[in-house]
Amino acid sequence: MSEQHIEANVADSKGAHAPVGRFAPSPSGRMHLGNVFASLVAWLSVRSASGKIVLRIEDLDPRTQHGPWTELLIDDLRWLGLEWDEGPVRQSDRMELYHAAIENLREQGLLYPCFCTRAELHAASAPHASDGTPIYAGTCRGLSAQEVAERSRRRPAALRLRVPAENDRDGTISFVDRVFGLRSEVLERECGDFLVRRSDGIYAYQLAVVVDDSEMGVTEVVRGCDLLDSVPRQMYLQDLLSLPHPSYAHVPLLVAADGRRLSKRDRDLDMEGLMDRFGSPERLLGWLAGMTGLAPDTSPRSASQLAEIFSWDLVRAHRENHCLDAPEPQAGR
Ligand code: GLU
Repeated sequence: MSEQHIEANVADSKGAHAPVGRFAPSPSGRMHLGNVFASLVAWLSVRSASGKIVLRIEDLDPRTQHGPWTELLIDDLRWLGLEWDEGPVRQSDRMELYHAAIENLREQGLLYPCFCTRAELHAASAPHASDGTPIYAGTCRGLSAQEVAERSRRRPAALRLRVPAENDRDGTISFVDRVFGLRSEVLERECGDFLVRRSDGIYAYQLAVVVDDSEMGVTEVVRGCDLLDSVPRQMYLQDLLSLPHPSYAHVPLLVAADGRRLSKRDRDLDMEGLMDRFGSPERLLGWLAGMTGLAPDTSPRSASQLAEIFSWDLVRAHRENHCLDAPEPQAGR
């Protein structure tokens, strides 16, 4: 399987057809500079290849469905000049698609109910994957029907997907990321059986993203490199659901001056402040492109002007995380 995946991805990235990319923001806060950078690269990649882009609002979590953030995200993308061709599509409107995928996996005998509490999963002794999620020890994998019935009476179950054993021929997933190159992951060792639906009934990100990318015809996924380790889980799901593999490109993260990852919750370098400091999308995008190697200098440039000089080699040449501190507002603007 691994070699087949590598070939599939290389072929995709050279594909003769116009690419379809996507913006997939979670409306959990105002966009920050890191989100702007990832969105910009996703947009430049498809626009420079005459492709199209779809906008999907990742609002699976009900807490994100009624806040002000969806409208602000849309306004911010428009202000930046990052126009999309389809959408916005909201995940909250697509529950039946995720339900159908769960039923498909259930019929394949690959799901089981999990009753572990958060505290049990996050126990200090539990090994954790590089993205911070605990590697599942398989505690509920072998429960008898009677044990499941007893536990169901006490608390609702989450649903987990079995991953192949390490020595299984499908146990290692390999792919070529357009920025980070060849990557391989042993699912059993590096994530274990993973959630496809939480105990509160919310479908897991990994499941929804795979269903949506395929259903929306996405051929290339471009996003922040904090999600690089999710690719093998997503490819495993694509195989089980007989869905195609898009190509993957993970862009460097932007970190705050003290080295912290930018966060929507902390309102780090968010769009409100950025609009205030830069005053125009051209000033902001030109500065960001110059600082991250997408342009030779930081002079003002529109998204369309950046598309004319975009190349993935520029992203690859600057693939370390960028530590940026936006300058103070310019006098006289
Ligand atoms: N919704 C995720 C976010 O806003 C991105 C998911 C993805 O691109 O696959 O961070």
